[in-house]
Amino acid sequence: MSAALSQGGPIGVFGGTFDPVHHGHLRTALEVLEGCGLEQLRLIPAHVPPHRPQPRAPAELRLEMLRRAVAGEPRLVVDDRELRRGGPSYTVDTLAELRAEVGTRPLCLVLGADAFLGLPGWHRWRELPGLAHLVVVERPGTRLEPDAVLAGLLAGRRSPDAAALARSSAGLLWQQPVTPLDISASAIRALLAGGGDPRFLVPEAVRELLMASRCYPSIAGPAAGSKEAQRSAKQETGITG
Ligand code: ATP
Repeated sequence: MSAALSQGGPIGVFGGTFDPVHHGHLRTALEVLEGCGLEQLRLIPAHVPPHRPQPRAPAELRLEMLRRAVAGEPRLVVDDRELRRGGPSYTVDTLAELRAEVGTRPLCLVLGADAFLGLPGWHRWRELPGLAHLVVVERPGTRLEPDAVLAGLLAGRRSPDAAALARSSAGLLWQQPVTPLDISASAIRALLAGGGDPRFLVPEAVRELLMASRCYPSIAGPAAGSKEAQRSAKQETGITG
């Protein structure tokens, strides 16, 4: 265990496909970081998300977009462990790895409402509260009404306030208010595929990569995720790997 990592305030964990990262992710990440008193929030792109369709953009490009998006905000840290690990990106494995690194330091798993409501479909999901606090944020278009199974697991876990997250390692549930931003990666992909411009939905540095890579082609371009599309994305952006 690294001495530096095992001491200090809570660490947030925000996973996703980030296909592409957008201001809905970034503003939410910052408001959770500040509202929950986190020392840092790790943005962790999934390699192979087990619970949803596979990402369209190559992993290296999703990672590079994330890195450019958070440049200048040192409290938002891009963590590429799931891409390095390969295989299905199970959150329980990621949290177990982090737990081994941070000792008893609080970990907070950040979930948008849609991800939170889907938890009962996740691999070994009942183990998650043993590894981290769950911090849930509302998302426009999703009503936060846990079904009976989820509610059962979470009964008695509600945190009285955000400050309590720093006083134990894991196990609490906290709903953090954030500015509602109705932005989704799928809408951005559809916009790009239709020839649209995602200006102001994503950071400018991300937009430049998106426009150069043409990684979400319209039906006229090479099939997304195909070798040809991936090669072209890498050539256009200069990303290697
Ligand atoms: P897609 O549209 O492809 O499903 P997405 O925009 O939901 O993508 P993901 O990378 O799947 O983005 O989401 C990662 C995490 O970020 C999830 O917990 C999700 O709920 C959350 N999230 C995404 N967009 C928002 C948003 N606009 N507001 C709050 N949370 C969000």
